[in-house]
Amino acid sequence: MPPAAESTAPAGALDYLSLPAAARLIARVGVVECLRDVEQAIEADFRRWPEFSKTARLAQPTPDGVIELMPVADGRHYAFKYVNGHPRNTRLGLPTVMAFGAIARVDTGAPIFLSELTLSTALRTAATSVMAARLLARPDSRVMALIGNGSQSEFQALGFVGLLGIRSLRLYDVDAAATRKLMGNLADVEVELVPCDSVAEAVQGADIVTTLTADKMRATILRGEWLRPGMHINAVGGDCPGKTELDAAILRRARVFVEFEPQTRIEGELQHMAPEFAVTELWRVLAGQAPGRRDAAEITLFDSVGFALEDYSVMRCLQALGRAHGLLESLALLPALRDPKDLYSLVREAGAGGDGDRA
Ligand code: NAD
Repeated sequence: MPPAAESTAPAGALDYLSLPAAARLIARVGVVECLRDVEQAIEADFRRWPEFSKTARLAQPTPDGVIELMPVADGRHYAFKYVNGHPRNTRLGLPTVMAFGAIARVDTGAPIFLSELTLSTALRTAATSVMAARLLARPDSRVMALIGNGSQSEFQALGFVGLLGIRSLRLYDVDAAATRKLMGNLADVEVELVPCDSVAEAVQGADIVTTLTADKMRATILRGEWLRPGMHINAVGGDCPGKTELDAAILRRARVFVEFEPQTRIEGELQHMAPEFAVTELWRVLAGQAPGRRDAAEITLFDSVGFALEDYSVMRCLQALGRAHGLLESLALLPALRDPKDLYSLVREAGAGGDGDRA
């Protein structure tokens, strides 16, 4: 899928992908096919990493979570995502993570695409995990433990089953209803589902361990003594200051891979480690500048926090797919002016049309 970005909306409008349209699009194309396209788009963008202007995201801690702005730009486009992380939201009937974002042209600053990014975040997070595991997990990996069975879990499960050949999923969540929900959603997928009573039980025999829990604290979901030679750990849930999932001993035993090092130092499992602790950015592995997995016994860790470039990739990918499937709308968000200095004409003309209270 050639990633789109230029808008086909008329003057004064931009391409818009609503959440219902994104849901329809993903259902029509298929989650695994979407993940395949998104993984390719992310990989292509990571390969041209030096072309992007990058910054750690701007985080606003709140009493019950965090609200973040995530910008990235290259010579053509500027993109950003607004996203929150509020682990207690589910008790209020709201998701932990909600997001939207936009792409603009760099030459004029004109926004060209506005998108929901809640479903898209789940897709890009799973696609990035799959991309990392392709470089870091043993190629004969067939069993994955999935700890935390909330919103992200189906997307991660489908990515690893559909794109990496996982045949058995060992599931655990402190909330048994979340595990039942995940099993229900995966009922038609060709994979063995093994619900477990503890993390220790879930990681038994696992080639890959994915942690996807949400808690606003330093948690120890995974203990060092459960590691086995050759394991790959896909640590996704620890993604903001003060919120981690792993025993620090795991970082000392594993080779650690990250998206954008300055951001992961602040937000990832790396919070456990001193600033000189060595890590490898994933793009270097893709560019052939650093090795991925070196042997079958090595323990590898992807310390995922989510980087703005992945949101840019997924937005362009879903814009292209949405256009191909006729699911983009035009949103009249921008001024279309006969005289670009006469912004007031919009008010004047609207008033003349009888919309105003006063002439
Ligand atoms: P969610 O609230 O829908 O699901 C989280 C699940 O974790 C819940 O079912 C909860 O019961 C479970 N859980 C909490 N503590 C646990 C524990 N000690 N052991 C086992 N299970 C436990 O959240 P989500 O949208 O699925 O997100 C999961 C996590 O991933 C969040 O922390 C979120 O911030 C993070 N996230 C990271 C990225 C990234 O790019 N790295 C992207 C999206 C979400």
